Amino acid sequence: MNIHEYQAKALFEKYGVPVPKGAAATSPEEFINALAQLPDGPTMVKSQIHAGGRGKGTFTDGFKGGVKFCQTKHEAKELAARMLGNTLVTAQTGPAGRKVQTIYFTVACDIKKEYYLAILLDRTTSRPVIVASTEGGVEIEKVAHEAPEKITKVFVDPAFGLADFQVRELIFKLGLTGAEAKNAGKLIRNLYTMYWETDAAMVEVNPLITTPAGEVLALDAKVSFDDNALFRHPEIVALRDLNEEDSKEIEASKHALNYIALDGNIACLVNGAGLAMSTMDIIKHFGGTPANFLDVGGGASKEQVIAAFKIILGDANVKGILVNIFGGIMDCNVIATGIVAAVKEVGLALPLVVRLEGNNVAAGKATLAGSGLALVSGDTMADAAQKIVKLVA
Ligand code: GDP
Ligand code: MG
Repeated sequence: MNIHEYQAKALFEKYGVPVPKGAAATSPEEFINALAQLPDGPTMVKSQIHAGGRGKGTFTDGFKGGVKFCQTKHEAKELAARMLGNTLVTAQTGPAGRKVQTIYFTVACDIKKEYYLAILLDRTTSRPVIVASTEGGVEIEKVAHEAPEKITKVFVDPAFGLADFQVRELIFKLGLTGAEAKNAGKLIRNLYTMYWETDAAMVEVNPLITTPAGEVLALDAKVSFDDNALFRHPEIVALRDLNEEDSKEIEASKHALNYIALDGNIACLVNGAGLAMSTMDIIKHFGGTPANFLDVGGGASKEQVIAAFKIILGDANVKGILVNIFGGIMDCNVIATGIVAAVKEVGLALPLVVRLEGNNVAAGKATLAGSGLALVSGDTMADAAQKIVKLVA
């Protein structure tokens, strides 16, 4: 689960990670109140969407920049009105962009230097990794590609936590000394505590800055949480903004379906995450593009299958459907009856290829055959994938 910058910064403050003073607002009336909380003078106006690259983004009406520096609060109010309700397209939003529904005003800081700092899980070592670089403010992927020596990684033993020598190593590599080193050390420690205690999946500060006064501040904040740990954090779940999530994914989560929307045109309905991954691979292998990842799980009910099928059919990009079931615990006939019931409700104008195998497969095939549904059956995964790719083309 992702949260907005202003929410992430509130968490930062709670954990003692310094941020510029700020206030969020969701309407022009609220702009006045929010700005009243900030001192007069240079102010930043920041569009709140769950995507990075806002500063370099462009609104669909041609207005440039989702993060803007303003000399005065008056100017900030005008620019905020220009951004609110407008759709911002960044390198991370995709061409459709995201509608800005919240504006965050902050005191504009004097920047001495920009750094990069992030904490995330390294899957290879199964440890939290702290990534830091003197090349802040720019895309870290580009730095990693062009100048990997400018990126420092410190792997934290989860049982011992972050050690002092590791903090010193990070500070040394960032070239910080004196008051800056002391402040950065405290910030890194506090940020790690927040990452750990909130079960965050990623905490990214880009840029982390030093100011001429020797302060070290998080100027931007991007935080996401491990969905599997959200049950431990109702206060974090309360920060969820459904406006930022794909409506199909919200619907899927209501039915406990593991669904992720993608931008291809072949929908897949599969049982088991591994089989779902290989189904996407084989669609690609034969020249198609998957419209989603969908694992209905091992013990899906007919109602879940109906919900899944409706979500798939509700995706305007979908031009064909591939059902790939290998019934172990899953009863093939539950899938078959679910498909038939869903099609009865919402109709089916798209090609459908079904590959059923395993537990109660004969009954499942009989249900499909008896329904009069115009479907193509696939004998193997490869056969089914080739058939749907051909039908969609
Ligand atoms: P992003 O584009 O979504 O990553 O949004 P950021 O919050 O990182 O803002 C984009 C850029 O605006 C930063 O990299 C900074 O260079 C600049 N910026 C943000 N806040 C301030 C500020 O308080 N003062 C100044 N001078 N620049 C800022
Ligand atoms: Mg940034």
